[in-house]
Amino acid sequence: MSDLTLKQRFIKSLERKNVDKVPVCSVTQTGIVQLMEITGAKWPDAHYDPEKMATLAIAAHSITGLEAVRYPFCNTVMPETLGCIIKEGSLDTQPQIVDFPCKKKEDVAFLSIPDNLLESKRIKTVLMATDIVKSRLSGDVPVIVGILGPAAIACSLCGVNNYLIWCITAPEVLEELLILGTTACTEYANSLFDRGVDAVVIIDSEAGPDLLPPPLFESMILPHYKSITRNLKGHSILHICGDATEILDKMADSGFEGLSIEEKVNLSYASQIVGGRACLIGNISPVLTLLQKSPGQIKEEAKKCIENGVGILAPGCGIAPHTSIENIRAFVAARDEYYNSK
Ligand SMILES: [Zn+2]
Repeated sequence: MSDLTLKQRFIKSLERKNVDKVPVCSVTQTGIVQLMEITGAKWPDAHYDPEKMATLAIAAHSITGLEAVRYPFCNTVMPETLGCIIKEGSLDTQPQIVDFPCKKKEDVAFLSIPDNLLESKRIKTVLMATDIVKSRLSGDVPVIVGILGPAAIACSLCGVNNYLIWCITAPEVLEELLILGTTACTEYANSLFDRGVDAVVIIDSEAGPDLLPPPLFESMILPHYKSITRNLKGHSILHICGDATEILDKMADSGFEGLSIEEKVNLSYASQIVGGRACLIGNISPVLTLLQKSPGQIKEEAKKCIENGVGILAPGCGIAPHTSIENIRAFVAARDEYYNSK
């Protein structure tokens, strides 16, 4: 079993099969300033240039030891493709949505998915980066792409205020946006699988209890997740930021093989709730631990995560750009120390 490649170990873990040790990687953003400086592939260019995107993503595997290549480094690919206006960000801040197309309910009728979705600028950049990543990697390293889920797409298109109001006062309008998000998300994800991506991470924090009342998760969101997971051609992970404790049980019914959770969720409790239904991924705090603590403290927390039943050891959310390579290496080393000491 120790002859597993990184990719085999990652996929077996997602499938909840026995592995010699848990993989350690990030299923959320991996771009850090030190790597940008070493490689010359810097934000904001690395969000828009496939060559730089691939270079920075590979560096986060080859230089830090994280056991997967994961990109892109922001959540604006689909929002911009569907009509949001984006501010491009800087060396250490991600691109942000500054304007969105659905100001009022009637605007939803004018939204549609472009016929040439996969040819649109931002999506094409990620697809081209995939070709570059695949051509430079041995094939033994898992390739993970993050894409937005239906709630995140809906919220980005109508703005957070409309999203919060419409989920109560105009659920039928929100449903139209969720359908659009589900369709776009499924088509984009499958195009990534066609290019050889091993897993997609559906980032959908707007479906979580921090924004959406948990009963609405089951009635409004879960059916879309089931549709997505039924139609995907490859491995999939769901990432929800914040404290997802209240919806964990339903998340585990969604059909996603992996559930990526933040440190706000108690891991041993989550393991009990989810059981064998999904692979738990997380949940070291990217800011309070990975950015701010010492290598020794990071190792201690990482080992506790493994002890508490995590299936893939990972940061609970995107890595902060000013996190040091040294700290990420300590995070990776913690996994090896854990198994060596047993
Ligand atoms: Zn997150």
